[in-house]
Amino acid sequence: MKTSIRPFDQPLEPRAEWDTPMFNLAQNQFLHAAELMGLDENLRDRLLFPQRTMLVSFPCRRDQYSEVETVFGYRVQHILTMGPTKGGIRYHEDVNLGEVSALAMWMTWKCALMHLPFGGAKGGVRIDPSKLSRPELQRLTRRYTLEIFDMIGPDRDIPAPDMGTNAQVMAWIMDTYSLQVGHAVNEVVTGKPVVLGGAQGREEATGRGLIYLVKEAADHLQLDLKGATAVVQGFGNVGRNAAIYLAEHGTRIVAVSDVSTGIYNPRGLNMVSLVEHVEREGVLKGYSDGEEISNAELLELDCDILIPAALQNQITEDNAARIKCRILAEGANGPTSMEADAILAERGIFVLPDILGNAGGVTVSYFEWVQNTQEFAWSLEETNERLHRMLTGAFQRTLQRSQRDGIDMRTAALMEGIARVAEAKLVRGIFP
Ligand code: GLU
Repeated sequence: MKTSIRPFDQPLEPRAEWDTPMFNLAQNQFLHAAELMGLDENLRDRLLFPQRTMLVSFPCRRDQYSEVETVFGYRVQHILTMGPTKGGIRYHEDVNLGEVSALAMWMTWKCALMHLPFGGAKGGVRIDPSKLSRPELQRLTRRYTLEIFDMIGPDRDIPAPDMGTNAQVMAWIMDTYSLQVGHAVNEVVTGKPVVLGGAQGREEATGRGLIYLVKEAADHLQLDLKGATAVVQGFGNVGRNAAIYLAEHGTRIVAVSDVSTGIYNPRGLNMVSLVEHVEREGVLKGYSDGEEISNAELLELDCDILIPAALQNQITEDNAARIKCRILAEGANGPTSMEADAILAERGIFVLPDILGNAGGVTVSYFEWVQNTQEFAWSLEETNERLHRMLTGAFQRTLQRSQRDGIDMRTAALMEGIARVAEAKLVRGIFP
C-alpha cells in the first residue's frame, strides 16, 4: 500500500514536529524491529507517530501573588487501538513534545508486551518541581488537569505518576477531574493514595517488578544473587526500591547515586541507614559510610547487575565499551542508545530492556484501574503474586523470541509488543 507520508529527506517532513534525540531513538528502535519482523509498510507508518498530541501553555501563579509564569504542558496518546491509553505524567525542566511522544510510544509497546488492554500515552509539564512550594505544585497540577481535561478519562486515557510526580499529584488530578464531572471518579488516575482507591503496592511496584525480572535473568545466566554485586543509578522511587529488594536477595549494593552525588562502598551499602539518611537530608550527599563518586564513574564500576534508574541517554557509544556488568536492568525509560545497544550485545551483556524492566509500574496501575472499576480491592499478596506471574510470563515470551530469532532482548521485547498491536490494528480494519 502507498504511503502519503513524504520521504524523510524532503523539506517539511512530518518528523520535524517531534525532532528530538529521544523521539528519534524511540522511532529508530521501532523501525529496526519493524524491519526485522517484516512489518507491513502502511502499518509501520501508522505506528511511527502519535495518534493524538496536545500542547498547552497556561499560567502558573507563584505564592508571591503578582508573580505569574507561563508554562508548557503536554499529553500525547500514541495508539488508540488497544483500549484506553495509559501512561504517566512527568514534571521536569527539560520536558518537550519529542520526549513525551517517545515515552508514549514506549508505553504502547510496554502495555502490549505485558498483554494489558491499553495503548500508550504520556504527559508532562516543563517545570522543575523541586523549585515549587506545595501550594504552587497543587495549583500547577489543577490547572494542567483542566487544560487536558477533554483528553483524559477512565475510558479514554488514564494518567499515573512518572518522574517528578507522585501519589499526591494524582490525588489532585483525581479531585480536579471529579469536581468537573460532579462526582468522585477515582479510576481516572492510577498511583493514587490507597485511601482514594490506590492499589496496595503500586508505589514500590516498578522497583519490585524490576527485581523479579533480575531474578529471572540471573537464573537464566546461572548467577546466584546471593553474594552478587549491584550498582544503582538513581535513588528515586524506582532506584531506591530496586536496591532494597535486591539487597533482600543477599546482593551487595556497592554504589548508588542521585542528583547530588554517587556513593561507593565495595563492602556493600547498608540500605536501612542509606534510606534513613535520604529521608532526613533529602539527598545522598553527606552519607558517610562510603566514598563519593561521579555518576559517570558509577556506571563503569565492576558489578554483576547495573540498574540505570534515573534519566534517559546514560549508556551511549562513549561509555558502553567500559560497562562491566553481566545484567543491565533498565528501570529508567530510554537509558541506552542504539549504538550502545550494539556494543553491549557484542560484549554479551544481558539487557533487561526498559519496556520490560520497568513494566511492573504500569502493570500494578492496570490492577488499580481494574479494582477501581469493579469497586473491589485486592490484598498486597494477591497484587504481588499476579505481578510476578505477569512479569515472568513476559520475560519468558521475550527470552524465547530472542533465542528463536537470534536477536537481542530489546528487539525481542519490542517485536512482542509491536506484533500484538499490529494484529489488533489489522482485525479492527480501517474506517471507512
Ligand atoms: N510512568 C510509568 C511508566 O513509565 C507508569 C505508567 C502507569 O502506571 O500508567 O511506565
